[in-house]
Amino acid sequence: MSWSERQRRMLAAMGVRLFAPASAAPSVAAAAQAVEPVVDAGAAVIERPAAAAVAPVPPAHEATRVATPPPPRDPAPAQAAARANAPAPAPVPARGATSVAAALAGAIDPALAERAAHIATLAWGPLHEAVAACTACGLCESRKQTVFGVGHAQADWMIVGEAPGEQEDLQGEPFVGAAGQLLDQMLRALGLSRRAESGEGAEDDQAGDPARRVFIANTLKCRPPRNRNPEPEEMARCEPFLKRQVELVKPRLILLMGRFAVTQLLKSDEAIGKLRGRVHRYEGIPVIVTYHPAYLLRNLPEKAKAWEDLCLAKATADGL
Ligand code: URA
Repeated sequence: MSWSERQRRMLAAMGVRLFAPASAAPSVAAAAQAVEPVVDAGAAVIERPAAAAVAPVPPAHEATRVATPPPPRDPAPAQAAARANAPAPAPVPARGATSVAAALAGAIDPALAERAAHIATLAWGPLHEAVAACTACGLCESRKQTVFGVGHAQADWMIVGEAPGEQEDLQGEPFVGAAGQLLDQMLRALGLSRRAESGEGAEDDQAGDPARRVFIANTLKCRPPRNRNPEPEEMARCEPFLKRQVELVKPRLILLMGRFAVTQLLKSDEAIGKLRGRVHRYEGIPVIVTYHPAYLLRNLPEKAKAWEDLCLAKATADGL
């Protein structure tokens, strides 16, 4: 796609940078071993505007759900320094059209860009409130409640799924249905958990060892009616929330489950089967792609591949 000078200027004003195509990705095996960047969609396409350019806080909406947000916590200094010093991956152009569509939506409607810039400034509490009050797409009309995410606010692992289903919509927590039970089993096999062990102050989202905790979120914070697929417009409007959650958690590793999570963060429309088995990057953070647990429930033989993906994720997280 070629960009007119006017489009470039509008995108630049929003803090969106366009890159020329980069060189080929490393081989699967090399990527898996060296944990080299393959795709860094976030860094490649969208950059947050500088703090000085951030829009003023818009008027607060009435919250639809009251929940205690996890308090922000700085990562351990050594961890933070290591992460801050991680080499910046080479920018690679986005494969899918979603990011471009989102950028253009912002260019056409400056209010969207302003909203995204505002969300990018929020701490945990205000972010939680903004999600609970969100009316940016039609899903707010059918949801029972928003589903923010669950887990340790500084977990080493961040897991991203698709969208809340019926149980999640009722309970306000991601992955609590059958797919969630499978996910919990898989995590347990790796010594990981969404909650602290009992006795570790299980009510406290900051309890327990962040290396053994996960933070789980979805691409959409609201249930699509009858569990239909998320629509690109809904994903584009919800994306700033997930992006901010990643920035706040600062995970060592992101595990993307299913194609909508992949589309949202990696901007790729390639099949999961093509993307799994190697390390991608989002904003410099290693990303592993695997099948959605609901798919695994329907395709039991694929569980072995999902297990391989989790082992690669663990090796990647541990190797950092
Ligand atoms: N599937 C998802 O992707 N997320 C949930 O929260 C539940 C099911």
